[in-house]
Amino acid sequence: MTHGIQRLDLSEALALLNELLPPLAEQEIRPLAQARYAVNASNIVAPVSLPPFRSSAMDGYAARAADLSLGNRLPVVGVSAAGHPFVGSIPNGSCIRILTGAVVPDITDSVIIQEDVSRHGKHATLPNLPEAIQIDDPPTPGANVRAVGHDVDQGSPLVLAGQQLNAFELAWLAACGVPEVAVLRPLRVGILATGDELQPPGTTLAPGQIFDSNRLLVTELLQQLPIEIIDLGLIKDDAEAIQQTIAEAAPTLDAIISTGGVSVGDADFVTEVVQRLGELDFWRLNLKPGKPMAVGRIYSSDNQSSNTTWFFGLPGNPVSCAVTCLLVAVPALKRLAGQTNTPSTTIAAQLTQDIKHRAGRQEYLRGELVSERRATQTQAGNWVTPTGDQSSNRLGSFQQANCLISIPKDAGNLGAGTWVEVMPLPAMI
Ligand code: AMP
Ligand code: MG
Repeated sequence: MTHGIQRLDLSEALALLNELLPPLAEQEIRPLAQARYAVNASNIVAPVSLPPFRSSAMDGYAARAADLSLGNRLPVVGVSAAGHPFVGSIPNGSCIRILTGAVVPDITDSVIIQEDVSRHGKHATLPNLPEAIQIDDPPTPGANVRAVGHDVDQGSPLVLAGQQLNAFELAWLAACGVPEVAVLRPLRVGILATGDELQPPGTTLAPGQIFDSNRLLVTELLQQLPIEIIDLGLIKDDAEAIQQTIAEAAPTLDAIISTGGVSVGDADFVTEVVQRLGELDFWRLNLKPGKPMAVGRIYSSDNQSSNTTWFFGLPGNPVSCAVTCLLVAVPALKRLAGQTNTPSTTIAAQLTQDIKHRAGRQEYLRGELVSERRATQTQAGNWVTPTGDQSSNRLGSFQQANCLISIPKDAGNLGAGTWVEVMPLPAMI
């Protein structure tokens, strides 16, 4: 019965998932240091301005712009250091020593850097300071003074709902004195691998067996998502065993990812099981590698409520598994997790060599992107080279690879020099 399901292009599959998947809503409060990769739950405006006071960008001397003309000599009347604002008055024609990050007194408006002055005399009371400075190279008025709100104004947007919290957002919140943040709860995602031939690394293989790499592969690819991963183990090519594992795990999970057993072979039971426990939303993509991928949902219920667990059936070949995980599962899980700022990064690059491609399926090759200036060019260019044999079993094709090269569905063979789109791998996770 699964054979009747329509085969989708990748873009159609992603559009459908965007429509189907409901972002979760449950929130929890976390200290900043425990919020890495979590999704921010509500719009946060800056509770203070940064910097909160006019501050000096440099080490030098603060004075009135009018007093900073060439050759002027200004007595030094005090010091403003970071954390130690100057207190007192600064008569016309004088200045204070100021250090980076220190409060610029209201009466002054410019900071002349220490390299642009000559020091004269030894200050009577302030250690290591001159009695006066002479202006050797006048600054422009307002130089080296950071205005209040130069980074962000109090009340303006800081981090938006749906934004994933990474080092920069977390640091910005900390800079504004925010100690904790409301985030969406992490997704609970179960991962299982199917295949009679699979054994965990560290065991001895019988003839015909191989080590399982996909569970680790998928787990690692999801590390930077707001996800708690539950290992559902290695499952035999047995419909009952697969069904039991999925049915038992589903009630407490938001999503399940399986690998293997999703093609049309005699030992491929995954789509059948999904249909027994729920329904398939799509199966098979016009995609290379990754054609057999299936997406569906598992329904479960307890006394109180019914639960939907989204199901992603990835192909078993490790490269197909990785590519469908990156192209389909990762964006789908981001959407489920409530992440809304998920622009995909693509870069235009030229092929360094010919590529054979038969029209009909969109293809993703592992590639090495370099940006360089060639002798014949005035501008730097982006050049991309496929990483050798692109067979879907070859995890080795990811070595040296830093991007996926997108070959359009309708393209034929492409010659060296053809412009293609590439997706940097680090931007896909
Ligand atoms: P399947 O999708 O189950 O037909 O598997 C396709 C190919 O991928 C076969 O050669 C499998 O042995 C291999 N394979 C399946 N699952 C895994 C796994 N977890 N780790 C490594 N290779 C796998
Ligand atoms: Mg198999």
